[in-house]
Amino acid sequence: MQIGAYKLTSLVTSTFALDGGAMFGVIPKTLWSRQTEVDELNRINMVTRTLLLESKDRKILIDTGNGDKWSARKREIFKIEMDPYILPNSLKHHGLSAEDITDVICTHLHFDHVGGNTRIEDGRPVPVFPNATYWIQSENWKLANSPSEKDRASYLSENWAVLAENGMLEILNSERELFDDIRLEIVHGHTLGQQLPVITDGNQTLMYGGDLFPMKAHIPIPWVMAYDNEPMRSIAEKKSILPKLLERDAIIFFEHDPEAIACKLGATEKGIVGSENIVI
Ligand SMILES: [Zn+2]
Repeated sequence: MQIGAYKLTSLVTSTFALDGGAMFGVIPKTLWSRQTEVDELNRINMVTRTLLLESKDRKILIDTGNGDKWSARKREIFKIEMDPYILPNSLKHHGLSAEDITDVICTHLHFDHVGGNTRIEDGRPVPVFPNATYWIQSENWKLANSPSEKDRASYLSENWAVLAENGMLEILNSERELFDDIRLEIVHGHTLGQQLPVITDGNQTLMYGGDLFPMKAHIPIPWVMAYDNEPMRSIAEKKSILPKLLERDAIIFFEHDPEAIACKLGATEKGIVGSENIVI
């Protein structure tokens, strides 16, 4: 798919699984279990999906998935399967190397979004994309570096500390325009300072759903994750963003949906829902 200056390619970077109850908050299992398969430990299968944007001047990644720094125990808890999906290998299939990446837009610093930023070399984390600038919002940067008891297990500094040490990190202060044809929708309900890239050429528009719309099932307003720090704020953000996306006939891209890569929206008497799936 091409939007404006960019060729878009979706890349799965890992499969993993999280507790279904946590993924759907107050929605009862009788409803959410119709949307997705559940294993014997109540986990639902998910993916981490990166979006690659290629223009003449830039090779941009949006988020980098779980990465490969996991212990056997954590791999088991989260059912993480990463070996077939290592990002530099996937890039090779598209004629790119890790060195070609110019920019990594980090929606937020939770481990399943930025684990692929770094890898271990000689016992220490090193950047996976040595020539890239990594972009993050200041509110999320501050929170990640002093997380609450609720957040602590999700913010792992091994995914970003070395980038800051090497001067590879650019911290944004609510800027809305990043590059030509890429603006940032900044939302706070899931975690402070989550930035969701919106790629648009005025004709076609795609929003990277991040953890505001992790799966297609999260489009209806009350379907909000228990992971969200401020669920009422997520609800308000969804209510504000969805009609604007519908009006533009925009596409939402799903970072965590194992089936739907992206979809369009439709209006029904029950509100705005996901309609036809789009393959990217
Ligand atoms: Zn998150």
